[in-house]
Amino acid sequence: MREKTRLVHGYTGIDQNTGAISFPIYQGVTFAHPALGETTRGFAYARADSPTRQELERTLALLEHGTRAWAFSSGMSAISVFIKLFEPGSHLLVSEDLYGGTYRLFTEIYGKYGLEFDYVDTSNLEVVKAAIRPNTKGIFIETPSNPMMHVTDIRAVSEVIREAGGVVAVDNTFLSPYFQKPLDFGADIVIHSATKYIGGHNDVLAGALIVRNEKWIEPISRLAMSEGGTLGPHDSWLLLRSLKTLSVRMDRQQENALHLVEYLKKHPKVEAVYYVGDPEHPDYETTLKQTTGYGGMISFSLKSGEKVPDLLKRFKVITFAESLGGVESLITYPMVQTHGAIPVEMRERLGVNEKLLRMSVGIEDVEDLLEDLEQALSI
Ligand SMILES: *Cc1c(COP(=O)(O)O)cnc(C)c1O
Repeated sequence: MREKTRLVHGYTGIDQNTGAISFPIYQGVTFAHPALGETTRGFAYARADSPTRQELERTLALLEHGTRAWAFSSGMSAISVFIKLFEPGSHLLVSEDLYGGTYRLFTEIYGKYGLEFDYVDTSNLEVVKAAIRPNTKGIFIETPSNPMMHVTDIRAVSEVIREAGGVVAVDNTFLSPYFQKPLDFGADIVIHSATKYIGGHNDVLAGALIVRNEKWIEPISRLAMSEGGTLGPHDSWLLLRSLKTLSVRMDRQQENALHLVEYLKKHPKVEAVYYVGDPEHPDYETTLKQTTGYGGMISFSLKSGEKVPDLLKRFKVITFAESLGGVESLITYPMVQTHGAIPVEMRERLGVNEKLLRMSVGIEDVEDLLEDLEQALSI
């Protein structure tokens, strides 16, 4: 079955019990045992496993070319489970340009439990090699990175880290499995904030982990079940429904993004545009090697940040709000929103300053988006 068909049909397709085209929401938490040590379909208690979540997890595993997936109540909950695979004293490399919440979770929370983190430019292989220490146990890559859109060569970095005996995790939130499948390029673990493109409608908070190597199944299942951050049946169903339109949404978001990039690059008030699908992007060749599309995320910096507070009030179609990946176009001011948790010096060095804006392009009529940018930028 081809990708777009798989997205529409999911793992099971038609429900075996009822013939329902839409996989049912099994709201039950506890399941009857026919006899001691027996279950009807492997289910006992919903924290460990539940039917609607299982259908979602099996679908996600297929889409990412993995063997097993787990769905969580948020992206952060998924990342929290991932990080507990490591013993105190472990050193991890992390993309320096990344979602601020991940930085906060690692440094503020897990730093206290004896884990060490080094934030490096993972799009530079030499930098990655030089940062490896004897106790390096893994790397956490965001590609494309948030918000500067650096692209990490997943295959090259995976080879280097694997040789050092480490685990490779890729946060695939920005492209979704529709455009990028990190497990095919040597990554061990894929992470999603399913709140974004997978959910796609700004109405579900969810996360996921997906693996290929079966050695991860037992430790991750144990963590997920023990901690209990697993996703509920209704939200699991919303994601199953969302996945059916993932290809249509992302194709349109990308098409709109390409138009907006062209417009922004010519705008006299715009200093630079960061979009991985721009042939002038420094990592464009790497993007072509490992993705089947560019997605709908654009960052751009203005020549002056002075008028940004006024500018943000002027948008009428595009909404000034955090988050991304939904059908509605959103504009974010990373310095104060998504990256507020990053220390000022680090932010400034990366280019996340008062001039930088990030746009998550939706599926609206592109003419309305262009007109809205035109009038907002005209101050
Ligand atoms: C939003 C986001 C997260 C966190 O996910 P939540 O679902 O908000 O918990 C992690 N990584 C990236 C790249 C994100 O955009």
